Amino acid sequence: MKLIGRLADGQLAHAYILSGSSMEVLETAALHLAQRVNCLETDPDKRPCGQCSACRRLQQGLCGDWFRLEPQGASRTLRIEQIRQLQTDIAGRPAEGRMKVALLQEAHRMNEQSQNCLLKTLEEPPENTLLLLLTDKPQGLLPTILSRCQRLTFQGAQILPPTEDFELAAQAVDTIRRTGYEGVFDMAAFVDQSRKKRLSYFFSALEIMLRDGMLHSLSREVLQGAPGPLEDLLLTPAGMRLEGSSEACRRGLEVLWETAYWLERNVSSALLLENLFMEVWKLDINYRKT
Ligand SMILES: [Zn+2]
Repeated sequence: MKLIGRLADGQLAHAYILSGSSMEVLETAALHLAQRVNCLETDPDKRPCGQCSACRRLQQGLCGDWFRLEPQGASRTLRIEQIRQLQTDIAGRPAEGRMKVALLQEAHRMNEQSQNCLLKTLEEPPENTLLLLLTDKPQGLLPTILSRCQRLTFQGAQILPPTEDFELAAQAVDTIRRTGYEGVFDMAAFVDQSRKKRLSYFFSALEIMLRDGMLHSLSREVLQGAPGPLEDLLLTPAGMRLEGSSEACRRGLEVLWETAYWLERNVSSALLLENLFMEVWKLDINYRKT
């Protein structure tokens, strides 16, 4: 849950979609995030402490700032009445902690009417409120909802970087491939500017994409394309893929790890990105939207 910890450090979005196949993992992550933003421990690095009254009341479901919506009835839907009630509940100031936290379990079980109702809250989120939409079917959410939330994907208990970092990594590779030498410098400057404080997510996303690209080539080169056990290991969000020989992807990973090493040692991120993208440009790796 380290990444979640970092998410809560001053760059919190108003709303997150937590998606993954295990609702239990998503619930744990949501509780962790709620505790993180409300924990009374003075050292931010130690939040959530799990011991203070705020952490404990959240854990026990007693906290007055914690709102949890579950699908109801035989049809298992999140009804519009529930959404309206939630909107009333989160309208005021937090009752006891720093932030109100609303959790929507199986958020895809809202029908279109409920989703449009929730959309109003996403468009004008009340202050000090964190909305967490948990789902194993993010495709069941309206695009207008998806675009207003930061998306976090969980694979098992592992949390992946935000989807937008995957998109940026894909965009970077694609731009470098198409525009060559000039694109390298433009893209390095762009990524450096837009991801200044959270470059590690971008690196994680690119790492996962290169790793998946390598697994993909290996299944093609070694297993003659037999969709096999390797497919189950892929972590890149659906619809995006880097394509290159396993050797090119492996080399890409090496350069990436080397770049991350120097980044930790305070070498200029702009320079490192230029160098990284220059190396990626030399490798025959392409982005394929699938
Ligand atoms: Zn605490």
